[in-house]
Amino acid sequence: MTADADPVWPGHPVTRLKGIGPRTAEALAEDGVRTVLDLLLHLPRRYEDRSRLARLDEPIPVESWVLLRGRVLKVRVRRVSRRRLHIVDGILDDGNGLLPVVWFNQRWLSRRLDEDREFYLYGQIREARGGRLQLVNPEIEEVGEDVERIVPVYPRLGRFSGRRLRRLIGQCLVATTGCEDPLPEALRRAHGLPGLSDSLREIHAPSLPAGDDEREDLLLAFNRGRSPAHMRLAFDELLAFSCVLAENRRRRLQQGGLRLDRAATGAFGGEGLLPFKLTAAQRRVLEEIFEDLEAGTPMARLVQGDVGAGKTAVAAMAMLAVLEAGLQVAMMAPTELLAEQHARTLAPILGRAGYPAQLLVSSLAAREGRAVREGLADGTVRLVVGTHALFQEAVLFRQLGLAVVDEQHRFGVAQRRALLEKGPAPHLLVMTATPIPRSLALTVYGDLDLSLIDELPPGRQPVRTVLRPPSARRKVFDFLRSEIAEGGRVFVVYPVIDGVEDGGAASLNEFEEEARALLPGVSVGVLHGRLNREERDAVTTRFRDGSIQVLLATTVVEVGVDVPEASVMVIESAQRFGLSQLHQLRGRVGRGDRPSWCILLANERLSDEARRRLEVICNSTDGFEIADADLKIRGPGELTGTRQWGPGGFRFADLIRDRQLISTTRAVAKSLAETGELESVRTGLARYHPVDEILQAG
Ligand code: ADP
Ligand code: MG
Repeated sequence: MTADADPVWPGHPVTRLKGIGPRTAEALAEDGVRTVLDLLLHLPRRYEDRSRLARLDEPIPVESWVLLRGRVLKVRVRRVSRRRLHIVDGILDDGNGLLPVVWFNQRWLSRRLDEDREFYLYGQIREARGGRLQLVNPEIEEVGEDVERIVPVYPRLGRFSGRRLRRLIGQCLVATTGCEDPLPEALRRAHGLPGLSDSLREIHAPSLPAGDDEREDLLLAFNRGRSPAHMRLAFDELLAFSCVLAENRRRRLQQGGLRLDRAATGAFGGEGLLPFKLTAAQRRVLEEIFEDLEAGTPMARLVQGDVGAGKTAVAAMAMLAVLEAGLQVAMMAPTELLAEQHARTLAPILGRAGYPAQLLVSSLAAREGRAVREGLADGTVRLVVGTHALFQEAVLFRQLGLAVVDEQHRFGVAQRRALLEKGPAPHLLVMTATPIPRSLALTVYGDLDLSLIDELPPGRQPVRTVLRPPSARRKVFDFLRSEIAEGGRVFVVYPVIDGVEDGGAASLNEFEEEARALLPGVSVGVLHGRLNREERDAVTTRFRDGSIQVLLATTVVEVGVDVPEASVMVIESAQRFGLSQLHQLRGRVGRGDRPSWCILLANERLSDEARRRLEVICNSTDGFEIADADLKIRGPGELTGTRQWGPGGFRFADLIRDRQLISTTRAVAKSLAETGELESVRTGLARYHPVDEILQAG
């Protein structure tokens, strides 16, 4: 095909378009736009109905957006001196009536407006002082342009915005015919999906039906990203993602896993090593894990359980089974503090059974680190607990049988994969407290089987949670003193270590002195991420044995401090934390049998939304309920703590809005795998939806 017959093609560089030179192309590339297809995938933020011409002899409601056509008379430029603001104003005459028009800070307009020429003006009608109506900041278009239509409004790109961007993307529309549809016809029909090239055209230049009601409905659908064309893109993106996960899963199951034999190892009954009896929920999940270990394919299981549900004990029993089978076990935690806590917890259980845990974290002295790595390579170290230091290339295992990943939400998929590459198809156990609603969990962890510990160990005291203004701090600290006098221990958590630069968050350094002054005779310790390992060890040990009674800390304590005597958690500037994070922090208390408290300190002048969020925490101790509320208020990106799943991850799909599509595309991917079409559909989709990047981003 010649360039003349096909002036633009999806794969062409943007420089092929009129008005784009090398420099503009560079600016676009910074926003990730290099090709015509990239521009076609730049979706409008909203749509404006400029298809109806309003008349000035008919009433126009205040606040409505209207398209008018006429001449602008008596154009003046004024300068409001105090604010260095230029105002252009005039009177619009559409042949039926008159209406004042005003533009702010668009001084150059006065030159363009010519009393003898007609223009289209599109803008909002507002009430000026005195109740007079005027048209404010309307966009101007020449008569003769294709104006009376639905107009897409795009997010800015490079140095393009508004009409220029619209024109640029308009030039690309012919290229939609070159967008090959990655979905088989039958699949499209089965799900009632429009074709890809039609969808892209519709998205940039909607063709709306003439009937008023239908038209309104469809315009609304476009504005909510719910038109059939939008749904098609969301479907494709989620399907692309599901295909990658299905592919991963297929590969994993093909590998063949290390088969454990209950009868042979006799280790499946290690419960006697625990200082308590497992709950029914823990036992059920453990049974699911054991079945995986015996299945002969590599386990990949996500254990979800609320804060304090006792995931560690379940993991310990699974680890013991694998250790007894003669294989190595690695446990990975997101922070050194949590890794240390796990090593301590496992010592009396697995250590007693003959498997002492070695710690492998980056702050280890070079010599110690080397010794652990050597032990892992020659198999003398059987059990290792560590942080991301575990999946560095230098770490080799003799025979890794099980990788346990704790607090999964802090890790990306890529990190998890790196750990799995350490052995020939080791079993994988992932644990998370972040209670993601099931459908979400299925997407984000789509290649994992799911187990749920839905019961807390007996005898737990619910943590009573209250919201207090900072002015109550003195009273709160009086309460802390009385708790401590009765043998309780207290956390006070601050959002930042120092600095008040952003929004007046209470910082640990700033408040430390005051806290100490308010707690005379009480032994106070400080814990944050800038301490080195010895300092950290010293503080946590002293808090554990009670020689420190109050721990002033940052969110490093969010996971990884398990002190049963801790009964009060005070959180300063609580509005600064996510709900799931607050719930996780609160989980540090109420672990023993003391009645426990969580006190949220937050400014009186909270926004309604912020107040509503904090009230959710006060009124619920159910992690699922809290996560659901968090999801509604903040969106999924914040919730999973892995930003790549948020708005920056999926471009067209919305994990909340498109819940339904998530399970549909999972099922589709599965059946594509069965019919052998998975690979071709996946490659086809990848051209438009490079979801592999989402997975790599972890
Ligand atoms: P999480 O699920 O948040 O990781 P942990 O594994 O840290 O929870 O357990 C929380 C606390 O509950 C620990 O102190 C642990 O010893 C205790 N625990 C766990 N299982 C039980 C049980 N079945 N009975 C009593 N206490 C338990
Ligand atoms: Mg835990």
